[in-house]
Amino acid sequence: MPKNLASIVCTLTHRSSVSLTRASLFKFAGLLAGVFVLASVSLVYLAHDLDRKEEVESAFYTQKAMQSLEKSLRSTVKDYAFWGDAYKHLHTEVDPDWAFVRQNIGPTVYKDFGFQGLFVVDDVNRTVYSVVKGELKTVEVAEWLGQSITPILDKARAGAETETPTTVFINVNGVPAVVAAAAITPGTDPTVVPDDRQPSVLIFVDVLNSTKLALIGNDFGVDRLQIASAGEAGSASLLPLGDGGVAGTVHWKSSKPGLRLLGIGLPLIGIAALLVCLMVWTILRRTTAGAQALDASYASLQSSQNALATSEARFRDVVEASSDWVWEIDAGWRLTFLSERFEVVTGLSREAWVGATIDDLLCTELGTLSQWLSIPNRRPDISVQCRYVDPQGRERITRLSARAMTGGGFRGTATDVTEEVEARQRIEFLSQHDALTGLPNRTRLREFLDGKLNALPTLEQPLIMLSLDLDRFKPVNDLLGHAAGDAVLNAVSSRLADCVRDGDLVARIGGDEFVLILTDISSQDEVETLCRRLIDSIERPIAIDEQEVFVSVSIGISMAPTDALEAAELLRYADIALYEAKSAGRNTWRFYAGDMNARIIERRRLESDLRFGIKHGELRLHFQPRYRIADGQMVGAEALVRWQHPERGLIPPDTFIPIAEESGLIIALSNWVISTACRCAAQWPENLFVSINLSSTEFKRGNLVERIQKALHDTRIDPARVELEITESVMLEDAAGAMEVMRTLKRLGVRIAMDDFGTGYSSLSYLRTFPFDGLKIDRSFLNRLGESEDDNAIILAIVGLGRALSLTVTAEGIETAEHLQLLKAVSCDEGQGYFLSRPLEVEAFDALLERLGHTGSTSNA
Ligand code: C2E
Ligand code: CA
Ligand code: CA
Repeated sequence: MPKNLASIVCTLTHRSSVSLTRASLFKFAGLLAGVFVLASVSLVYLAHDLDRKEEVESAFYTQKAMQSLEKSLRSTVKDYAFWGDAYKHLHTEVDPDWAFVRQNIGPTVYKDFGFQGLFVVDDVNRTVYSVVKGELKTVEVAEWLGQSITPILDKARAGAETETPTTVFINVNGVPAVVAAAAITPGTDPTVVPDDRQPSVLIFVDVLNSTKLALIGNDFGVDRLQIASAGEAGSASLLPLGDGGVAGTVHWKSSKPGLRLLGIGLPLIGIAALLVCLMVWTILRRTTAGAQALDASYASLQSSQNALATSEARFRDVVEASSDWVWEIDAGWRLTFLSERFEVVTGLSREAWVGATIDDLLCTELGTLSQWLSIPNRRPDISVQCRYVDPQGRERITRLSARAMTGGGFRGTATDVTEEVEARQRIEFLSQHDALTGLPNRTRLREFLDGKLNALPTLEQPLIMLSLDLDRFKPVNDLLGHAAGDAVLNAVSSRLADCVRDGDLVARIGGDEFVLILTDISSQDEVETLCRRLIDSIERPIAIDEQEVFVSVSIGISMAPTDALEAAELLRYADIALYEAKSAGRNTWRFYAGDMNARIIERRRLESDLRFGIKHGELRLHFQPRYRIADGQMVGAEALVRWQHPERGLIPPDTFIPIAEESGLIIALSNWVISTACRCAAQWPENLFVSINLSSTEFKRGNLVERIQKALHDTRIDPARVELEITESVMLEDAAGAMEVMRTLKRLGVRIAMDDFGTGYSSLSYLRTFPFDGLKIDRSFLNRLGESEDDNAIILAIVGLGRALSLTVTAEGIETAEHLQLLKAVSCDEGQGYFLSRPLEVEAFDALLERLGHTGSTSNA
């Protein structure tokens, strides 16, 4: 380049004779002209290329931004729609209290994600739930969007089977918006029975107003991303959204680095060319004059040399003005040139690096840089991403473009892209991690799992999946607020992470649901040890403000290859095992077993049979008389429900009450029990009361008091003749709520007894603080009577305690005369049991009352 030209000039002057000089000068001028033209052309080409690349790149990132937006919307709608609870509360029935008031799918969708619209459309395409900008509304989704969305609904429902949500760009009042829709399905929740209606659809609408677009653009490094106006129609920086741009077009500002380069470079070349022309003209005139040909031309050439030096300096300025640095290597990969910017950008010394091989300076992801440069037919417009270590020891990333030089070797530019790459990695991280706990989310879990399963786990090196669900987490959220709930989740997350090894994965996949993937464990014993450790660690109290919060965890375990080799199946099996662990009393773990699935299907069948049975009068109520022990007088009876199943015969309550509790059928069932019991008892002699069992789940639904009140009113029974039996689980789950409900119940005039006393561990304190009228000693104590002195002593103590607290003590499960004798000896108030009377059908019970009335006797025992 310029250096070589200068040496030509020198050679010329040494061989000087007028004619020779002149001829050479013409050649030289031609050459110079050629050089300038070439320089200008390459500058224009370079600038054009730079702009084009920038354009392509920004278009690429804009498109990426839109795709990522759609993807994140899809995964969000998916998380909400393929969820058993959503199915129960937004499809089976629409429960705005659950969805909006308790913020399961409500205002947070706007607050956290900025989705302006949230809708649920039912099976006949009516909008049944609308939240607009975080506020509950009654507006049809089509009306709000100003267009029909039937095709979107169809597509969302078509994806129900494969749990695939759909997204589409549309235009809402001139503003583009993304609509994400997914059919609501039970997900992997084995407790939900899908009905035959076509699924409801959950819809999120993300309106891309200018602020939002600008934010999205920022994340992807696209400058001033906005809705395109009519004036920008011809611009290149446009991206139509939706099919054929129906949703509108977005526009961004391209930085046009080439244009800037031209702005500086072309005038400089122009000036240099002008100078050289002037110089040549002067030389020519002088040679024609012929006088001091040699000297003059020598002198002119001297000045032209100066001009060249100037122009060289200007070229250098141009190169140095750009933020990139320029490099050159010889055929042996050694650096022969590094521009000054090299030092500024990299902080490395030019002196130290010129002469070293380029492979020592830079490395690529795929191999050495020399390997990349040697790729045959490598396209010169493709750049490569390289890494180097700066003087502070930090890894930096640079994008390198290279062109082969004719004489061998390469030259090119290098752009620092460290920040850009880091920003992109951050976005990637955010899309794969849970914002609250920083743990991997469902997306990351799926990726990790697929990767591990592709490596085909073996029996010796299995893949273990633990599905975890916190017990008693909901009350924390409800009573202490969401901030406390978040703190608990964070504490749990870090405890879980502490329990596993480095290569394992802990993911949070839902409110209080976590999944652990372990690959370093081979025996069942080790898994159980780990489960023990996890449970112990979670059980430790969590300090929140001045309080200590206790949660526990249930764990379901599935393994590959033993149970399955598919991610979705493993997840489902782990969930089934989790469900078993919860049924087994929580705070424990279960391995998946083939028959669990069958058991769950069996349970579901029972559940749907029960739903039918309650409606069609298959329930029966038996009454078991209760007697005063001192004189054998009958004082009342406990109502015990049974189910007359058309195929299976009479089913005891222990089999179907838990199913009713889990499916929510307990309310309908209990309503029937309460009203039937009150109606029957209203016909009994006035001195007999009826005792009704309540389930702890009923306490949590708000309307227990109203239901009891209604039954009392409808049957006109004296409330003093009604006793409600509750177990201590009621107080364990939500003591404050239980206290409130019990006080209100007492105001109605009914009595309350604690059932199954002695089976829990904290009953004593509850007895003292809650408004109980009586307690029933669990029948397991009587069963063991005589076996151990301890149990005798316990019964004695309980009776004493009852007396101290003025409670009526009832012993359950009196099976022998000895039992009765013993209870009499300790002055237990009341008793019931097979020895006195089994639970009786209504007719038999009425007959018993009849006999009592006639004979005046009080006991049939
Ligand atoms: P529970 O409240 O402890 O009811 C007493 C159970 O002990 C009854 O079983 C009764 O038949 C049985 N039993 C009575 N005397 C004796 C005896 O001398 N020896 C023995 N071994 N057992 C005796 P059942 O009817 O099968 O009820 C089981 C449980 O189901 C009840 O336990 C109660 O927790 C629940 N349950 C029954 N009916 C209802 C109801 O209407 N609503 C709710 N929520 N739960 C109910
Ligand atoms: Ca009972
Ligand atoms: Ca009992």
